[in-house]
Amino acid sequence: MKHIKKAGFASSLIVMLAVSGCVPAAEKTSTEPGTELSFKAETPAFYPPHLEDAILFRQRAGSVAVPEDLKAALQRSVPANQRQLRKFPHPYRGMLAFASDIDDTTPEEFAEYHRFLNTKEEIPGVGPGVGLDVGDSMWFYLANDKPNIADKSGHGFEGIMTWFDYTDMTKYRYKDLIKHYWQSGWIDSMHTFGDFSRKNPKDVVFKREYAVKAWEEMKANGIQCEVWINHGNEANVDAFGAFHPKQFSKYQEGDNPKSPNYHTDLTIKNGVHFVWNSKGESQFGNDSPIFEISLRDGQKIWGIHRYTHEQKNRAHDWTWVPREVHRQITKERLDALIENEQYAVIGQHLGGYNIGFPFDEKGVQTLRMLESYQEQGHVLVARTSRLLNYSVAQKYVQYAVAHKDGETWLNITAIQDPLFGPQPLVLDKVRGLTFYVEDPEKTHLLVNMKPLSADEYQVNKPDHTGRGSIGVKWFPRDLTDYSRTAPQR
Ligand SMILES: [Zn+2]
Repeated sequence: MKHIKKAGFASSLIVMLAVSGCVPAAEKTSTEPGTELSFKAETPAFYPPHLEDAILFRQRAGSVAVPEDLKAALQRSVPANQRQLRKFPHPYRGMLAFASDIDDTTPEEFAEYHRFLNTKEEIPGVGPGVGLDVGDSMWFYLANDKPNIADKSGHGFEGIMTWFDYTDMTKYRYKDLIKHYWQSGWIDSMHTFGDFSRKNPKDVVFKREYAVKAWEEMKANGIQCEVWINHGNEANVDAFGAFHPKQFSKYQEGDNPKSPNYHTDLTIKNGVHFVWNSKGESQFGNDSPIFEISLRDGQKIWGIHRYTHEQKNRAHDWTWVPREVHRQITKERLDALIENEQYAVIGQHLGGYNIGFPFDEKGVQTLRMLESYQEQGHVLVARTSRLLNYSVAQKYVQYAVAHKDGETWLNITAIQDPLFGPQPLVLDKVRGLTFYVEDPEKTHLLVNMKPLSADEYQVNKPDHTGRGSIGVKWFPRDLTDYSRTAPQR
């Protein structure tokens, strides 16, 4: 397709629009917070003059073919120049995720606290939900032998959300429910294969067979899990990522090829790229949420920096419980996150107690404050898998830029993950990537030489650095109450 000269194209389109009176597809009131250009028409058929060019450009950008003479330049992969890449999707300046252990959560608890966290529904006695993107974790098995009351209604082990019935691989317990919440995005990680904690930590129940079966089930049910979070005491030998022969972590056998409990060959092959290795941290914000870990079987994986506790002299003051969320997240910490442009991954046990609705008044206020930081375009709250994937994409994206006729072409050529190789260039892997460019309104954004459609990218006004940018849109906000459609056991 011939590259159309802008002036002629624009004027003929204006005439067309005026005659037909139609509202073009790109005309849409932005619901994104902050300073994204709002493409709201002042009248049904006309745009305000200062937006006209941008809108017309945007309309045709998705359908214009890449000029032949730019193709070679746009495929020349060069390492991303970090100065041209925004740290976070515009307009945000920090990103935060809750990484919650599913420990002792019953379906009733899960539904109640996720309705509050993920939707705007009215929660009895609490008020409307905060509508944040909060994921959770899952278990397949339960072999715990400590007496336990899991929730306020008095459910014991039988009420806990596990895929299988205890360790019986032939009998499902909450499989359909867990699958439903996985598909809805309320679950996005695994808290190991299950709860293998034992009164006597030497009385190990876990074995490789359980791992084999769990991965078979995930595959058969379309679950591609990328995030692994270690759990429990030394009987949980499937844990991995922090083995040290002289430390507490010496029980970790998951990555030991000589152990009957070895599974990281399967676990990494099946897509786990991130592990929380049981080492808690007291630092809230980090420049990067991930760090490299070498496993005992020679493989490498990303470790997760996960805030779990306060350090008091030499003691750990664990704050990863819902009643302490006001100590985990404070205004000062959120402001510092923005100031330093950092990530925070916060450890929690959202359903870990038998106290009913898990947040007290201070906690609810804290979460409303967090919501307002997102509303105001400061801190983006994302489920753990999204935050981690974004951090990899942002750090290792490669792209090429070329110019022609006063327009810029920017092509995302690769996400060169140093541990796992080139990542698939699908939309969900590049979401949020934001590039500073001279004239964002005259920039074509391509992924693997394919132009993004108008609703997949956003043009951003100058931010605090004074520079405008263009970026792939973040995931759309989803406030659906998935507990309504959750299957019964
Ligand atoms: Zn746990």
